[in-house]
Amino acid sequence: MSYKELAVTGVQGLTPYVPGKPVEELERELGISGSLKLASNENPLGPSKSVQKALINELPGLHFYPDGSAYKLRSRLAQEHHLTVEQVTLGNGSNDVLELIARTFLNQQTSAVFSEYAFAVYPIVVQATGAKACVAKAYPVEHERMPYGHDLDALLNAVDHQTRVIFLANPNNPTGTWFEPAALQDFLAKVNPEIVVVLDEAYFEYMPDSLKPDSVKWLALFPNLIITRTFSKIHALAGLRVGYALSNPEIAELLNRVRQPFNVNSMAQVAACAALDDPMHVAQSVMINTQGLKQLIIGLDEMDLNYIPSIGNFISVDMKQPAAAVYDALLHRGVIVRPIANYGLPNHLRITVGSQQQNERVLLALDSVLNGSSDD
Ligand SMILES: *Cc1c(COP(=O)(O)O)cnc(C)c1O
Repeated sequence: MSYKELAVTGVQGLTPYVPGKPVEELERELGISGSLKLASNENPLGPSKSVQKALINELPGLHFYPDGSAYKLRSRLAQEHHLTVEQVTLGNGSNDVLELIARTFLNQQTSAVFSEYAFAVYPIVVQATGAKACVAKAYPVEHERMPYGHDLDALLNAVDHQTRVIFLANPNNPTGTWFEPAALQDFLAKVNPEIVVVLDEAYFEYMPDSLKPDSVKWLALFPNLIITRTFSKIHALAGLRVGYALSNPEIAELLNRVRQPFNVNSMAQVAACAALDDPMHVAQSVMINTQGLKQLIIGLDEMDLNYIPSIGNFISVDMKQPAAAVYDALLHRGVIVRPIANYGLPNHLRITVGSQQQNERVLLALDSVLNGSSDD
């Protein structure tokens, strides 16, 4: 007997998510220090000072359970988005929300649709329920406007009679590709309202204004729409784990049935409220990213490297060879980036946009690995 045979069918076929390599692990393995991680799309600015203060103030109350309904944070989010509290569902990171959605709407008799190169959490949460994954072909490399971009027509065509959920990331990770707002709205209008559409906007704040869709307003038009957002990226709170969904109240009520009552801890609740009260930190984070992305692009162009056009806080770069060796060589220079072979992109490495100095360091290290130039 093996315990694997006893696991539910979905879990038997599951491969765990591989996160970016932690700095401590690399330094332990190589006996080095001062390494740099640009592998998990973390915000180089770090959390805002007012968030840090709010967290310190919260410490003496840690013996209490959190507010299970997280009323303050949900109210604050409702106010922020001009919605009602009943439309907000919190998660232990938005990954948790994605899982709540899968568990609410999927089982072995159903299917979910997402694109090739889509965020790796979608196949995991779908597979765990035993539902079928219908994967739509993305645009080819040669596509003029959006190489590796997600093809809304192909996504619609991938829908079958069992489909209950469609996952879309805008922009997507690890490609950084996006949808035109008008095309996305057309798509939503075409989807059968019995199919839930998850619009994952983890990088929303980083998008140029001209490409930001009026997605929150679409909630009034499309009752099957669920928008997910996170405090991990622009608010620099990845370590605390807090994200949320915006939806119609009926869907939120269903997600709440599956949700563990204390899925968002008290520190995370307090920090998220304080983060929403610090728009300067958000603006500064956007500015650092806009400049950093430009800096990386200039450096990559100088090295004659191709990359997938991105509007996130990361960029995926074609190494023109299997990227594993380049990844290893970068590790030996104390720089951690992200291999994305598991996404079907074996020649690409994803680089998170860092501070100016960090970007300079990753560019120099890359030049040294690929072109043998000195990086001292
Ligand atoms: C980073 C990311 C998230 C956010 O994950 P959290 O669980 O909120 O930290 C969600 N979707 C995508 C596409 C991401 O890249």
